[in-house]
Amino acid sequence: KKRNPNEPEFHQAVMEVFESLKPAIEKHPEFVEAGILHRIIEPDRQVIFRVPWVDDQGRVQVNRGYRVQFNNAIGPYKGGLRFHPSVNLGIMKFLAFEQTFKNSLTGLPIGGGKGGSDFDPKGKSDGEVMRFCQSFMTELYRHVGADVDVPAGDIGVGSREIGYMYGQYKRITTLYNGVFTGKGLTYGGSLGRKEATGYGLLYFLEEMLKEKGQTIAGKTVIVSGSGNVAIYAVEKAQQLGARVVAMSDSNGYVYDPEGIKLNTVKQIKEIERKRIKAYVEHHPSAQYHEGSKGIWSIKCDIALPCATQNEIDGESAGKLVANGVLAVAEGANMPSTPEAIKTFQDNKVLFGPAKAANAGGVATSALEMSQNSMRCSWTFEEVDARLKNIMVTIYRQVSRAAREYGCEDDLVTGANIAGFLKVAEAMMAQGIV
Ligand code: NDP
Repeated sequence: KKRNPNEPEFHQAVMEVFESLKPAIEKHPEFVEAGILHRIIEPDRQVIFRVPWVDDQGRVQVNRGYRVQFNNAIGPYKGGLRFHPSVNLGIMKFLAFEQTFKNSLTGLPIGGGKGGSDFDPKGKSDGEVMRFCQSFMTELYRHVGADVDVPAGDIGVGSREIGYMYGQYKRITTLYNGVFTGKGLTYGGSLGRKEATGYGLLYFLEEMLKEKGQTIAGKTVIVSGSGNVAIYAVEKAQQLGARVVAMSDSNGYVYDPEGIKLNTVKQIKEIERKRIKAYVEHHPSAQYHEGSKGIWSIKCDIALPCATQNEIDGESAGKLVANGVLAVAEGANMPSTPEAIKTFQDNKVLFGPAKAANAGGVATSALEMSQNSMRCSWTFEEVDARLKNIMVTIYRQVSRAAREYGCEDDLVTGANIAGFLKVAEAMMAQGIV
């Protein structure tokens, strides 16, 4: 904490991983001797830069850009870019640290990185977003590359932003390669990438439930957020026969006991870029409530936090438990506080941690990289089948690690240990670097 002051999210992520690593470290004292634990929490490098741009009124604006290249022991850095006013170095580091282990769990050759800016795309014109993205890329281009570091989207960065950044990268470098994932389908994007994190979350959840003789069909589900991950989590949950009754944004949540109409949400969020509140204008029998936290007091069988970090605290977890929640699977990164996780585990709620449960997005990004390298494109069905296979494999790997290290059913420990071991072994093999 002394070395990294004012980075509470980073400390939280490191503490969670290190606490679960104890049994693995006891088995592998050589990792301690080789300084792996010290080296693995220090990013390879972190870049912070000025992003000047001109708004529609002709005023100069300045934001701060970041790219944290955390660990490339098992492959080129890979991880999204986040544009949100809350972005700071601590948040970038927590995300890049988590990403390292998540990427390891996918079984694909990708290292961990993350980046972004405190720029807020909300309320900005397309022209402003484009000028910002071009300025951001004018610095970032020198730090990334198809075999070096491959960014993608995250909060506030969707296909529009990726398109503008890719255009500027191409213009500066003259390279046409897979330097970004989440690209549009007309210029090297992969079918199924948009859906991947949400669909992958549901494939993972299916495996969690299967082990307990349960299915998703017929369950009542709450999904927080209404962005990329949330929308496609709802889509797959509905396809699998669940009834999703609530979604949210950072202002509030909608409750539709008859089941969320996803086409309306897509229209409001993906096309009109409006607030979730607009849902009740289309469906007056649904309710809108101010304050996003209230969503966790709705009775449900399954809760899927898909918005942001620390969105479920101990109190909200207590409400979910009191209402008889059966399973929680994390679509967002670190959406549950340590108190919330403890509450779930103490009450035998099935809990799928982010780094395993939401790994489908980055896994499909790696499939996009493969297609770009091979100069081919797979069908949606082929990508989706590979995604499903990857999520089932991640589940098995994580639950096996939990069993092997004496923490049956504790997928947090299983995910941390399984993700860590591969990275640590690669670092050992590559010497003190
Ligand atoms: P988006 O920007 O598409 O959507 C984020 C959503 O969360 C928006 O609806 C936003 O609402 C809402 N939100 C933000 N803060 C809060 C809050 N405090 N309470 C309630 N809702 C809130 O981002 P993504 O869907 O891409 O990302 C969501 C989460 O999933 C993040 O944690 C991200 O790191 C993680 N993730 C994303 C992956 C991907 O492939 N996109 C892959 C793996 C993880 P508002 O419009 O009000 O801001």
